Amino acid sequence: MNMHTANFIDVGRWNGQAYISDWQRTSAGTLEVVDPANGTVLCSVGLGGPSDIARAALTARAAQPAWAKMLPAERASILNRAADLLEQHGTELAGWIMRESGSIHAKAMIEIEHGALFIRHAASLAMQPSGMFLPGMDGRTNYARRVPHGVVGVISPFNFPLVLSVRSIAAALALGNTVVHKPDPRTPVSGGVIIARIFEEAGLPKGVLHIVPGGADAGEALCSDPNVAMISFTGSAKGGAKVGEICGRNLKRVQLELGGKNALIILDDADPDIAASNAAWGAFLHQGQICMATGLVLVDRKIEAAITERLVTKAKHLPAGDPSTNQVALGPIISDAQVSSIQKIVDDAVAKGAKLMAGGTHDGRFYAATVLSGVKPGMLAFEEEIFGPVACIVGFETDSEAVELANRSDYGLAAGVISGNVGRAMAVGDQLNVGQLHINDQTVNGGPYAPFGGRGKSGNGTRVGGPADIEEFTQWQWVSVKDAATAYPF
Ligand code: NAD
Repeated sequence: MNMHTANFIDVGRWNGQAYISDWQRTSAGTLEVVDPANGTVLCSVGLGGPSDIARAALTARAAQPAWAKMLPAERASILNRAADLLEQHGTELAGWIMRESGSIHAKAMIEIEHGALFIRHAASLAMQPSGMFLPGMDGRTNYARRVPHGVVGVISPFNFPLVLSVRSIAAALALGNTVVHKPDPRTPVSGGVIIARIFEEAGLPKGVLHIVPGGADAGEALCSDPNVAMISFTGSAKGGAKVGEICGRNLKRVQLELGGKNALIILDDADPDIAASNAAWGAFLHQGQICMATGLVLVDRKIEAAITERLVTKAKHLPAGDPSTNQVALGPIISDAQVSSIQKIVDDAVAKGAKLMAGGTHDGRFYAATVLSGVKPGMLAFEEEIFGPVACIVGFETDSEAVELANRSDYGLAAGVISGNVGRAMAVGDQLNVGQLHINDQTVNGGPYAPFGGRGKSGNGTRVGGPADIEEFTQWQWVSVKDAATAYPF
């Protein structure tokens, strides 16, 4: 084992390959892993196609009964070892997250820390009670127990690649499922290889976990594979709708964790310094490429000027550049296409009367922290998820107008309300159509102990994390036991 060395990831072991029971070549060739900050090729992985997905799913199905039969304490100890390895090699592994996904160091370390917490939470699920006795209808023993689905297919995005993959993989494994995982092709190391390496070194039996980097074709193959019982998808509403459609056609259980247009509501009794710092963190962390990013900063008109001024000062002091210099607050945007999409939304807002108070420009992939004021319904900046570092300020006159503006979105992921009066903030928060409500905090909050998910276009009502995991990653089985078979009238 490569414990405590700076080469835990061990590129030579897997370069050009995927993890299908073990490291091996794939049918669709290789995929270069590129640093979005400077275009450097970091390594390559095996690119999976439909035939690789089918092979992985078949093997995962064969491995599942023995994995589910293993003592829960043994499954939990493998998971806990994987969490330990992630932390022990955290500095090295965070370096990969920084280079591959354009993360600053602090964000990469959040992924390591939360990744380990999610795995430990999952390990604890293996030890939970898994059934209940039911009222008898005759003399038989009558009970219901939670059983694994079988093979769970996981599909994850590029933005928090480690955490958003491991939160589903670990919970599914802990509860006796085997897993075929397809990370985003732009982040196959942070969202795939790292996870394969920690579970490989932790002693996970072969066949229980497969990691096949690939594009939408591989994802769709996973959704229609007859050996896969459930899909856990995190990504865009557009991708999620397609995944839901294929899973529906194939009668698979599906968990959809999608995008958001999240409002931070700042009431007139909020402290302007604190409120502006909440808005800056929510809008600019990881260049705004977060599903829970603060997409609208709704501010009471009485303090709008004070908040705007502070937010502009912050934006102008947040440098964007290559995270490997450790001198920047914002790294690169994941792709040129995404940079163009952000620019289009900012230009549309300005053309329709919003004021550009800071930023609004980019140097290649590095988009400056941007503040738009006077954003209104009808502008793309008001309606759409931007996935870029853009704070959109919208003024309101009354608390009920703030609620109305926040609830206009088709999405319903997260919201925050900041006020000097918790009761007043709760009265506003109670009316918001969201899966996550944060009083006196901004919108970017996550962790393993809360059931996370969205309403409306943000998902299909499923949740991941905390008490939701047993509900999502297992299903009921009713068992009735008679002492002996008895005769029927026929
Ligand atoms: P995306 O939907 O394009 O891609 C996400 C994943 O889905 C990738 O692995 C991709 O290869 C795969 N995929 C795409 N089309 C598919 C298809 N037809 N069938 C199967 N798989 C397919 O998303 P993106 O734009 O790269 O990621 C950002 C989006 O993800 C944003 O909308 C963001 O809000 C959302 N997101 C949601 C959460 C959450 O927990 N709710 C967390 C992070 C990101």
